[in-house]
Amino acid sequence: MVVPVRIELLTTGTELLLGTTQNTHGAWIGQRLLGLGLRIARQVTVPDGQAVGKAIRTGLEEGEVLIVTGGLGPTSDDLTREALAEVLGLEMIEDEAALRTIEEFFASRQRVMAEANRKQALVPAGADILVNPNGTAPGLYLPPRLSGACNCAVFLLPGPPRELYPMFETEVVPRLQALGGIEEAPGCLELKFVGIGESDFHQGVDEQLETIDGLEHGYCARLGEVDLRLIGTPEVVMEGRRVAEEAFGHELVSDDGANLEEVVVRLLTRQGKTVAIAESCTGGLIAARITDVSGSSEVFRYGFVTYANEAKRDLVGVNDIDLVKYGAVSKPVACQMAEGALRAGKADLAVAVTGIAGPTGGSEEKPVGTAFLGLAVRGGETRVVRQFHPWGRDAFKRQVSQSALNLVRQVLGG
Ligand code: ATP
Ligand code: MG
Repeated sequence: MVVPVRIELLTTGTELLLGTTQNTHGAWIGQRLLGLGLRIARQVTVPDGQAVGKAIRTGLEEGEVLIVTGGLGPTSDDLTREALAEVLGLEMIEDEAALRTIEEFFASRQRVMAEANRKQALVPAGADILVNPNGTAPGLYLPPRLSGACNCAVFLLPGPPRELYPMFETEVVPRLQALGGIEEAPGCLELKFVGIGESDFHQGVDEQLETIDGLEHGYCARLGEVDLRLIGTPEVVMEGRRVAEEAFGHELVSDDGANLEEVVVRLLTRQGKTVAIAESCTGGLIAARITDVSGSSEVFRYGFVTYANEAKRDLVGVNDIDLVKYGAVSKPVACQMAEGALRAGKADLAVAVTGIAGPTGGSEEKPVGTAFLGLAVRGGETRVVRQFHPWGRDAFKRQVSQSALNLVRQVLGG
């Protein structure tokens, strides 16, 4: 199980709080630690400057391991090293090996080292240097004995992901493992469900999951999908999965983190089939999601964005009379769009959507949020479903694209 090594993560950088840089270190480090059987107890983000020292002090008091990212650069706002030395009352000394590495970094790129870079070789006495082959800022490691009464190990890591990630693997992971107390990593399984709301999902499984001894479970809901996270020994994770599958096996999309479009492309590829798409109200979103997946060129060749009636008629052969008689948002039109896309795209299956995204354009019979989805299969009968997603234009488009992809997944037996 997850061992109680309390890890504090301190991400520094004014840009993280201004929102100009997305703070991705928490997610990345969290995932890496989970793989080691560890987890972050708390993440704190502070701006560059005075706040760093204060946050380091708290981190040292509360954590057994403190990981600090950012602020190791040569500029005047990069003060993490100095802040740590000050909090712990350690002297800063120039590390000869670190200085040489920084000089070599510049020499190998035929650049002259600025005087400011020299400060990156200053380290608190007794700290280990963590080499940085991808930048000038070396990382630092302070073993617990250097933190006085706190008994907390400290890592200072560079901010740029391309420097931090490799350093984490080669320098941080082995030291964390050497700290000891890490037992076998727990099993962690993420199951993705599509086509079920969060509260229905919760109601369907939560009580039963609660009764499984030693299982930790949690949910993450997004528009049109729910992730179920199961953590524990392999046996209890399996038991949790059984409960979830019994209730929502049809809605289970993946158990390896793959999203709906990835699963659809995977199924099409495995079965050697192609799909064509005719979209009205989603304006190309379904095609965009499919083409987000690498390898989609093998399975997707034709997408039609038939927004106007003429486009529906000219590109996918929707009947003019039906367009007038039933309206563009109707069962016959969705059916003909799917069949037309199948024909024109020379595909094995085709999905088509037409609907009213709003906020205007609804009627009593077909209010804003109404959508018709057609699914045509070569040599099979075309199906049309009517749906209602009245939660705004963006949510509508996302939900309709989600349902369309899910129809394709279902017909492929995924
Ligand atoms: P540098 O030598 O580049 O100054 P540094 O260690 O001082 O390195 P920062 O100045 O804090 O690092 O950050 C440099 C860049 O790293 C930022 O502009 C940002 O793009 C990225 N970065 C920093 N922290 C994070 C974070 N938590 N999540 C994602 N990116 C980050
Ligand atoms: Mg910097």
